Amino acid sequence: MPGFHPTAPSSPPRGPAAGAGGAANYDPETVRAKYLAERDKRLVPGRADIRDLGTDEHFARYRNDPFTPFIEREPVADEVDVVIVGGGIAGVLAGARLRKAGIERIRIVDQAGGIGGTWYWNRYPGVMCDVESYSYLPMLEELDYIPTRRYAFGEEIRSHLEAIADRFDLVADARFHTGVTRAEWDEDAARWLIRTDRGDEISCRWYVLAVGILNLLKLPALPGMEDFAGRSFHTARWDYEYTGGGPHAPLTGLKDKVVALIGTGASGIQCVPPLAESAKHVYVFQRTPSAIGERGNRPTDPGFAHGLEPGWQRDRMDNFQAIVMGRPVEADLVDDGWTHHYAAVQHPPRREGMTTAELLRSGEEIDYSIMDAHRRRIEELVADPATAEILKPYYRYLCKRPCFHDEYLPAFNNPNVTLIDCPAGIERITKQGPVIDGKQFDVDCIIYGTGFERELTPLFRRAGHDIVGRGGVTLAEKWADGAASLFGMMSRGFPNMFVMPAPGQQAVVTVNYTQLAVLGAEFIGSAIGMLEDQGVEVVDVSAEAEEAWTQKIVDSFVDSSALMSACTPSRINNEGHPEANNPRNGNYGRGFGDWFAYRDVLEQWLEAGRFEGLELEARSTAS
Ligand code: NAP
Repeated sequence: MPGFHPTAPSSPPRGPAAGAGGAANYDPETVRAKYLAERDKRLVPGRADIRDLGTDEHFARYRNDPFTPFIEREPVADEVDVVIVGGGIAGVLAGARLRKAGIERIRIVDQAGGIGGTWYWNRYPGVMCDVESYSYLPMLEELDYIPTRRYAFGEEIRSHLEAIADRFDLVADARFHTGVTRAEWDEDAARWLIRTDRGDEISCRWYVLAVGILNLLKLPALPGMEDFAGRSFHTARWDYEYTGGGPHAPLTGLKDKVVALIGTGASGIQCVPPLAESAKHVYVFQRTPSAIGERGNRPTDPGFAHGLEPGWQRDRMDNFQAIVMGRPVEADLVDDGWTHHYAAVQHPPRREGMTTAELLRSGEEIDYSIMDAHRRRIEELVADPATAEILKPYYRYLCKRPCFHDEYLPAFNNPNVTLIDCPAGIERITKQGPVIDGKQFDVDCIIYGTGFERELTPLFRRAGHDIVGRGGVTLAEKWADGAASLFGMMSRGFPNMFVMPAPGQQAVVTVNYTQLAVLGAEFIGSAIGMLEDQGVEVVDVSAEAEEAWTQKIVDSFVDSSALMSACTPSRINNEGHPEANNPRNGNYGRGFGDWFAYRDVLEQWLEAGRFEGLELEARSTAS
């Protein structure tokens, strides 16, 4: 969840070669005015209005799984040791670590028809991860697997997660196409009772939430959208039955179809080249241009694995993490847009004696160089100057999540691709298709590449079910004024419940989400294993420990709303309302948090083995 991180850097930036020279014609006043003018075009009432797909009946089909047939089954009523809600990266890793800790009965429950989480649902053509595969695919050493490409396509990631789930025997007991409707702590039984939409009643001692951070589809509320007479779907539910083809096979069903793609974020841009290749015509509706950096994907060098030492993946993840945090490293192992541009913008160089104003100014200059390089790249790759101009991003680099692609921009040189500029969003949708500035676009199909509810969506909403703790208090009630936790993973009044760390939850934020999931899984697996070994039946967070952790989070909160409000509206600045960010939903450490300090805290806590900050009740010998 990139954004501004106004902490002072201690080390020189990773130089943005692409940005060099761009600052020569830099006039801060003109640039700021241009950025604000572009922002204002997009700050329109209703821009963040969405249909609530949790309850919306008209668009109920958007919740359906197009990939795996739904099979009726009898409800389950049984007892397991652990229920893990979510079978994506977080859930699979938590399951693997719990298995390693000796836990026997582990049940993953997921609405999807299989393992994979975000990689289960997002199968749109061209889907790929922007974090390099050698750091993003987890447990490469345990599975003795080397990804085939520098940036993995979605299927490879999904297959790898399936392989982990198989290796740790997490599939046979899982319940897919199953949504948890309620989880309730039963004080007498000292267990959680998990109810599902398939009528299941599963009792478990440990309840682990691994529900993901981008799991709620966002469908904008557009006037008239119900009237559209053609086919429509969201990128996270790609309708291959209609489009034909596959993630890497031509979309043969579109050869006589006119398609509207709404959205040009990380998902939308990846779909454009395959759509351009197959559809009769594609209209790409762009509200805000993304900054599209170089991708440079390539097959894995055959010599990559040679000489890798045990522990190499953790070291590689740490190397990436250190660079994006502005820490000194000997070598940039990943060497891509994140380590060049992201790191440089987050951590402009600080010379001795520099004032804050000078530091801010130098950061602005670096930012300008990088954005200017992106704009020049567009001029080089897009033949039509008018189209190129519309594609240019005018805002600071981290106002939006950066994107990387080598085929997206050239796709606009195809005669069957038309870019439609709509900074104020889609005006309305009629039976025939979208309308912009009164102009009707007649299309056969609308594809919503409109993303997901933001990462900071409260956990209880992302979980999608009532979580009822001690005394009948729900997590939504307890966290109504912000999160309260120990380590961002446990909350008082919700005994034996663990939550995988995520943004907005008093943990830290990482560009490589996998690294955070690995840590969370290690912590949860080890903690539950140790508690089980010691015969602990019930564990809850002490009031003092929760208060102390929450206070640390509040104390290190940096109010970046002034900087962020100058940004073009996006998920990152709460659609233009950054002031709404609650310090209690912040991170451990300033800005996005201090990853290394956070990991130290967790590892040292485990190593000490004293369960500091927890209240423990031993299992009675009779049970
Ligand atoms: P997104 O970044 O939120 O993009 C949604 C797009 O829909 C934006 O272009 C947005 O415009 C547009 N939009 C929304 N409402 C609209 C309206 N009413 N009218 C017109 N346009 C509208 O979503 P995403 O592309 O699915 O990406 C979400 C996140 O998923 C990413 O940030 C990333 O973390 C992850 N992701 C990663 C990868 C990868 O690694 N390659 C791929 C896909 C997704 P505005 O920009 O104006 O809001």
